[in-house]
Amino acid sequence: MGKPRCLVIGSQFSGTFCARELKTKFYVTVVDAKEYFEYTPGVLRAFVKPAHLDSLTFTLQPVLERKMGVKYIWGEVKELNGEKKFATIKPIFINHLEEIGFDYCIICSGCNFGPFKPMGESLWFPTVHEDGRAVSDWKHIDERFIEGRRRHVLEEYHKLSDLNTKKSTVLVVGAGFIGVEWATELEHYFPDLKLTIIDFLPRCLGPLPDSAAQYCSEYMTACGIKEFYNCKYDPKSSDFWKTIELPNGADETYVCIGVKASNYFMPKCTLSDKGPGGGGWIHFNKHLQVTKKPSEGGGVWADGTIFAVGDCNYGCIGEPPNWEMPPVPKISYPGEEQAYHACLNVMKLAANQKNLVATWWPWGAGMFSTSLGPHDACFVMGANHNKNSGYMVNWWVPAALQKEIIETSKVNECKDGWIGILIWHFVHHTPINLWGRGPWFV
Ligand SMILES: Cc1cc2nc3c(=O)[nH]c(=O)nc-3n(C[C@H](O)[C@H](O)[C@H](O)COP(=O)(O)OP(=O)(O)OC[C@H]3O[C@@H](n4cnc5c(N)ncnc54)[C@H](O)[C@@H]3O)c2cc1C
Repeated sequence: MGKPRCLVIGSQFSGTFCARELKTKFYVTVVDAKEYFEYTPGVLRAFVKPAHLDSLTFTLQPVLERKMGVKYIWGEVKELNGEKKFATIKPIFINHLEEIGFDYCIICSGCNFGPFKPMGESLWFPTVHEDGRAVSDWKHIDERFIEGRRRHVLEEYHKLSDLNTKKSTVLVVGAGFIGVEWATELEHYFPDLKLTIIDFLPRCLGPLPDSAAQYCSEYMTACGIKEFYNCKYDPKSSDFWKTIELPNGADETYVCIGVKASNYFMPKCTLSDKGPGGGGWIHFNKHLQVTKKPSEGGGVWADGTIFAVGDCNYGCIGEPPNWEMPPVPKISYPGEEQAYHACLNVMKLAANQKNLVATWWPWGAGMFSTSLGPHDACFVMGANHNKNSGYMVNWWVPAALQKEIIETSKVNECKDGWIGILIWHFVHHTPINLWGRGPWFV
């Protein structure tokens, strides 16, 4: 008898993880709407130093097909049929839709980051969906191709260079880790820009501990970035611009807040009505199986053979204050941990075992490394869903080096390189949990 077929949708952190994990026991097919992997946490640097893009990206086909030995389809999933177990895909060079069947499916399709744009477009995530490209601000560029992404990065870089030459004012909206990283990258590489950062909250770095917020604030003050907190972004109000000492507005604004769901291919009955960016997140249970939304009964969808992990899912199970699992941050560590749990469950289902693994709030979801330009950073550990929890355990040059090592080794691991695999394998493949909310033994 042949091996069972597993379809993986998306090929970044959680998608490449699933492919590596399942390749020996399943016929794995990975489908991604773009032709390349891009290390999202490092992409801010690429816009201010375009040569950096090469170290963050690689084309998927040679890695997935030749190194890992799985099948790769370059195309966008347009619909997932849970009942008949097939996905409808629009391959890149074909104008009609194709269907591909599967026994199991793991959705690793991530999310978008521009809450004010109709389809959540932002610099940080390539515009790859057909509907997103139709309303894109950079329609002239096709970011499904690595060359398109490269051109976009260069275009933004030249725009920033011109702004720098003119000593322009730039407003960064949102002082979470993305906003702080972006403002400090701009300051380092374009020192003539006049930078301002604002946030609705009383200080930067949102839920992270005070020590880290203070460290970042001191860095920004020292390099002349103006900070305004308890301040709502209201570009139509002249009072808003006066309050942030930019009475004539800003020459350029970068919005660095929020996430927006992009699960367009999923049936509505599985998508949340609520949640960040107006909802649209995939409901799931503690085994990471896709479920119907509570108003549709909340039961398992597609016989429990379809899983949703990482940024694409609702992120929490249950309701406050009695969470079954409180909201998990949309960062890469929990995405991979969930990918691991989903893979274990796919293997158990394929072996007719009933004792599925229950996922948990992983300790690694409390690790945040925030860079402050290329030579400074701060690293927080032990944060959980409680506000201001965690400890700043590393900072300054050592933390900047740590961030670089993480970047290089993670890209290598995703590329199926043995050094990266050696470094990261036991982070998720550990039979014993020494701390965190998981069971002692998996
Ligand atoms: C600027 C920035 C900085 C960040 N910094 C950090 C950090 O320092 N540390 C950290 O841990 N996290 C960080 N994050 C978050 C991290 O990048 C995400 O949590 C992570 O990328 C999620 O991984 P994923 O595999 O779930 O999805 P993604 O990385 O979003 O990948 C989804 C993939 O699915 C594909 N796809 C989507 N829809 C379809 C479709 N319909 N058909 C086919 N393919 C599809 C996409 O092309 C993409 O390749 C940062 C995010 C941003 C934006």
